[in-house]
Amino acid sequence: MAPATQKSVLSSVPTQLFIGGRWVDSSSSTTFPVEDPATGSVLAHVANGTIPDGTAALDAAVAAQADWAATPPRERGEILRRAFELITERTEEFALLMTLEMGKPLAESRGEVAYAAEFFRWFSEEAVRIHGRYAVNPAGGSRLLTLQRPVGPTFMITPWNFPLAMGTRKIGPAVAAGCTMVVKPAHETPLSMLALAAVLEEAGLPAGVLNVVTTTDTATVSEPIIRDPRLRKLTFTGSTAVGRKLVEQSAEHLLRVSMELGGNAPFLVFADADVDAAVEGAMLAKMRNIGEACTSANRFLVHESVADEFGQALARRMGALTLGKGTKKGVEVGPLITDKARDGVHELVREAVEQGAQVLTGGEKVAGRGHFYAPTVLVDVPARARVLTQEIFGPVAPITTFGDEAEAIRVANSTEYGLVAYAYTRDHARVLRLSEGLEFGMVGINTGIVSNAAAPFGGVKQSGFGREGGFEGIHEYLETAYISLNP
Ligand code: NAD
Repeated sequence: MAPATQKSVLSSVPTQLFIGGRWVDSSSSTTFPVEDPATGSVLAHVANGTIPDGTAALDAAVAAQADWAATPPRERGEILRRAFELITERTEEFALLMTLEMGKPLAESRGEVAYAAEFFRWFSEEAVRIHGRYAVNPAGGSRLLTLQRPVGPTFMITPWNFPLAMGTRKIGPAVAAGCTMVVKPAHETPLSMLALAAVLEEAGLPAGVLNVVTTTDTATVSEPIIRDPRLRKLTFTGSTAVGRKLVEQSAEHLLRVSMELGGNAPFLVFADADVDAAVEGAMLAKMRNIGEACTSANRFLVHESVADEFGQALARRMGALTLGKGTKKGVEVGPLITDKARDGVHELVREAVEQGAQVLTGGEKVAGRGHFYAPTVLVDVPARARVLTQEIFGPVAPITTFGDEAEAIRVANSTEYGLVAYAYTRDHARVLRLSEGLEFGMVGINTGIVSNAAAPFGGVKQSGFGREGGFEGIHEYLETAYISLNP
């Protein structure tokens, strides 16, 4: 097979809406440009969906629901398995497309492609393990039966930062459970999702099960879908602010809702930690996805006895990273998604410095084309600085110190978010105390990455509710029915 090139992947990716098994133009016949964040150049023009397109997509999902729910679980699973294999075979094409539209270096895009495909493999295996129960009424007489059935037509809204994986971890369990769906990817990165829809079509997914509507008019097109009484579930990955609005809209018809929202992950380094390993983990937890991840370490809380050693080592590693267009060999850090996003990151750094923080490395925008920001390490950051309380979504590591474990846990928990926390320590009793005491949906102990298709991903507090992946993931798309059987 010829190696994937920018020209070959862009000429083969669909750019229309995918509705009822057909690729169609927007009803307004308009398109919007998709840009390369490293250069600003236009990669493709994609159909700009409208309210009628959103309704048509939901019509198709509703029409396909009954047949899809009745399709044998093994068949549903095998479609996912074929899609897993097709994505894996085409890793290079998917990775290049993702790097072009999102900016992350190719090696990281390959990692996301593998992670994304894994949700299809995992849920292909879960499709055939949807069980009910049989019990004798404790009082005798009747029998109690439960069964699991698909929730029904689902609306999925996904963000730009993981353009493929945030889709597959919703689509995988929905397909496995027997739900049909309308997907609205982020307008910054629609190409990966359109390529994914083409793969699912090729893998044999029946028309109407998956429908994709791309649009820049997100709120206008989404709201009528959410308020349509035929919709049964809304699943969203994105910011807490938008999630809150969508939960309000979903209240009209009391939809089943899953929300994967923002985070403010603390990264704790205790005095007994292996500091070299902690720096290694910090590089992953901070720099994966250019810091543009909900799981990004947002605050480093380091015991005062090792803070200097940790800060200096992290600054050396961060300062030595190579920035550039993600398709170039040797590049380790890509651009941020937009200029506005970069301005936001810089503002947080500038404010912290004004309040007394010291810059160990970085602290500035990189001049020239693309929205590049220098990997930054800050120390002596005052507790009130917004860089500690707000999601940074960029390559900035603010470091603060603590004196004892109780203080570390208290500060780590002092956020409205609760997605993930990381901790480095060699004390096993402490590991137990942290696992129980940290108010986060996920805790990484001596590791900088927690994401795994076989594990339940999700948050508490204002990081949302519901879980994606693991045994839990499919239950987001199933409802329990109970039958009282009088023999
Ligand atoms: P965003 O909330 O701006 O957008 C997410 C999606 O919602 C996009 O598709 C966008 O077009 C759409 N959207 C925006 N406004 C909308 C509205 N009014 N109605 C309907 N849809 C709307 O977030 P983003 O900037 O794309 O992504 C970054 C955020 O996502 C961060 O906060 C990050 O933490 C979060 N995120 C969370 C997870 C998780 O699993 N918890 C994973 C990845 C990203």
